[in-house]
Amino acid sequence: MERRRGIVVRFGSRNMEVVDRASGGRVLCSMPGKFRAQGIRPIVGDVVEYSLSSAGQGRIEAILPRKSELPRPRISNIEQIILVLSLREPEVPNFITDRFLVMSSISKIPVVVVVNKIDLLEGKELSKFTGIYGEYYEIIPVSSKKKINIERMREALKGKISAMAGMSGVGKSSLLNTLNPGLQLRVSDLSRTLEKGRHTTTYAELLQFDFGGLIADTPGFANLELPSIEVEDLQDHFPELAQERGMCAFSDCIHIDEPGCYVKELLEAGDISESRYDSYFRMTRELKDNEGGKK
Ligand code: GDP
Ligand code: ZN
Repeated sequence: MERRRGIVVRFGSRNMEVVDRASGGRVLCSMPGKFRAQGIRPIVGDVVEYSLSSAGQGRIEAILPRKSELPRPRISNIEQIILVLSLREPEVPNFITDRFLVMSSISKIPVVVVVNKIDLLEGKELSKFTGIYGEYYEIIPVSSKKKINIERMREALKGKISAMAGMSGVGKSSLLNTLNPGLQLRVSDLSRTLEKGRHTTTYAELLQFDFGGLIADTPGFANLELPSIEVEDLQDHFPELAQERGMCAFSDCIHIDEPGCYVKELLEAGDISESRYDSYFRMTRELKDNEGGKK
């Protein structure tokens, strides 16, 4: 039988909804018992091969290897993180932004930074932000309220599988609704809890934009705890530090108090942003503290 490819977007009690790669149509697929017997359990985002049994109905034939996986709720193959923030109401602290950026980088998922609520800003507030981040990250300034740059944001989402991340109150659900009116009907709360009780399970779902593309209905990185990486590796997740690798007197310099530190020179010269270095510094301390706790 002919096999087609699709992406699992949602689970029901006995079956799952798959969006066909080629047509974008939705198919309700059953899971053969042999997978369950082998302990193979697909998650939302998985690319599957399926065969059609009747119109709109099919069965899963194979699950392809995952390219990436985000935890809680589990979701695979996210191609980009849309990091939403605002500079007023609320003013998201740079430290929080930097954490999201580091966590995306550790997950190896590219980020697009969306600065929402620019209707509330004076030009220089935005240019201060782009001065710090613009060289290393793609930034889309938008206003959900005044519908500024919404088409540009659609372009960034079109044809891709994305997840939004960002502090509560920055306008993630408003933006989804502005990007694709009606999508909101299914997003009463971005982090829906379907099952309450002792074992609270949150299921992710991928929503289909009318203009093409899928987006997770649950924000990524709900928990901002840093994954346990080596302190020496943290700098790899700050592009402005990573590009200076090998420039310090010591090859294993972590730019805290080592002599001959080139990063410290750049910081003093104003070529590396103080707030970015401050975030880096705080995160190195945190990683060291966690390390101590484990021993
Ligand atoms: P979420 O928690 O990230 O999903 O944020 P919401 O979408 O619930 O929005 C939080 C608040 O910000 C709401 O009161 C929105 O009306 C408001 N808001 C969203 N987008 C904008 C915008 O572009 N400009 C302004 N001024 N307010 C906005
Ligand atoms: Zn150094």
